[in-house]
Amino acid sequence: MTEAVPHNVVSATWIRPLEKPESIPASAEVVIIGGGIVGVSTAWFLAKQGVNVVLCEKGHIAGEQSGRNWGWVRVQARDTREMPMIIESMNIWRGLADEIGEDVGYAETGCLFAASTDAQLEDFSAWLETADEYGLDTRIISAAELAQHVRGSTVEWRGGLYTASDGRAEPHKAAPAIARAAERKGARILTACAVRGIETESGRVSAVVTEHGTIRTSVVLCAAGAWSSMFCRSLGISLPQLKVRGTVARTAPADSVLDGNLFDDHLGIRRRQDGGYTVAHGTILDHPITPTTIRYAFKFLPALMQEHKGLRLSIGHDFIDEWRTPKSWALDDTSPFEKTRVLNPEPNPRAVKSIRKNIDKVFPRLADTEIVEVWAGMVETSPDVVPIIEETQSIPGFHIATGFSGHGFGIGPGAGKAIAGMLTGNDSGIPLDEFRLSRFFDGTPIRPQSSV
Ligand SMILES: Cc1cc2nc3c(=O)[nH]c(=O)nc-3n(C[C@H](O)[C@H](O)[C@H](O)COP(=O)(O)OP(=O)(O)OC[C@H]3O[C@@H](n4cnc5c(N)ncnc54)[C@H](O)[C@@H]3O)c2cc1C
Repeated sequence: MTEAVPHNVVSATWIRPLEKPESIPASAEVVIIGGGIVGVSTAWFLAKQGVNVVLCEKGHIAGEQSGRNWGWVRVQARDTREMPMIIESMNIWRGLADEIGEDVGYAETGCLFAASTDAQLEDFSAWLETADEYGLDTRIISAAELAQHVRGSTVEWRGGLYTASDGRAEPHKAAPAIARAAERKGARILTACAVRGIETESGRVSAVVTEHGTIRTSVVLCAAGAWSSMFCRSLGISLPQLKVRGTVARTAPADSVLDGNLFDDHLGIRRRQDGGYTVAHGTILDHPITPTTIRYAFKFLPALMQEHKGLRLSIGHDFIDEWRTPKSWALDDTSPFEKTRVLNPEPNPRAVKSIRKNIDKVFPRLADTEIVEVWAGMVETSPDVVPIIEETQSIPGFHIATGFSGHGFGIGPGAGKAIAGMLTGNDSGIPLDEFRLSRFFDGTPIRPQSSV
């Protein structure tokens, strides 16, 4: 039977105390802003090449999106522009634990998008063209085969899109483990160290200014997740990015109803390494309207049209908070980044209720399984739902890697390799042209291919 829904039972992982660094280096070849999966993976690839790299994280490593996501690692249904990067990322995930000597919870447990109607199944099958082009094992499976992967469900799906070689990693393990691997290779990883801004000389980057002092450098990477747009705006760079809140629940260990990941109209659910499930409502997402929404509304229209069914718009304190936040600030004073060490939004109670209801409905065998934790994370999205990665034209030496749009965890290690190549001028073999920021300003049509 359905038990009381726990509200706001949020892991202590994200609100544990922070210790400021004892010292900071005077200089570095590269400084990375942000300790999510993108920042730490880049630091790891740079350190492996012997680059003197410092990473500054205002809160905890993986304290924001990279520690709060569903943990899906998939090529399936990706935007074609991301294919070379995700294929490389999957290769990295496969060897990651062996290479760094730490468990990251990675397993090839399969990824399934289940179709309730024939029309949906046909829509899914359109992606097989991409799968064929890249020689992937993705295929359409029948209702009978689906029932072997998803056991004891009451829903009569028509079939699904399935990739056996996709899987999962555990978000609370992966980025911290990669950060430690980077440290072992010589990177400096500083937590509780917000970057307030940068300094320039003759228009080029010359230093980053942190809350604990200045680090001289000629190469900076902004991998600041949901904060990237604000950081860039303080430098006069326009970066279209909006935030969408996703609510997630974790169950206690329970009966095995599936081994991998399942997405349908009711649920996004995956089996965890600990035997429980990470569950979200398949389609409920909230966007708190802020001044940034108004600033970039036109650029986000195509994505909004595509996502309008599941997206709930609201207006409240986020609008006022952002309105009151200055556009720029003095670098010798507290910045907005120190004021919110860890972006820890309240889970949406309606989403939590729907998650409970849908678990019970789709998997009656899990009806007695307790939800032991719920949390929310702010997804940062770009107008065409693929990342923005480039060296900015206005400030040479200042690079951006952001806008991973709700699917940056799986692609994070591949992105790290590609970005390390961009920063050092070594060709990683992963093309980045499609991710340039200028695509939103030079008349290129804004076309999201997939919003999952
Ligand atoms: C609910 C949810 C579910 C998701 N599910 C999946 C999934 O199943 N699979 C998948 O592939 N992706 C998923 N994603 C998306 C994925 O989590 C993100 O795309 C990815 O983690 C982004 O990584 P990042 O390093 O760019 O950003 P983040 O992880 O957000 O890291 C950015 C970091 O920068 C720090 N920072 C910001 N400003 C400063 C500053 N000025 N100084 C110092 N530090 C700063 C922040 O504190 C933060 O830790 C999901 C996201 C959410 C929220």
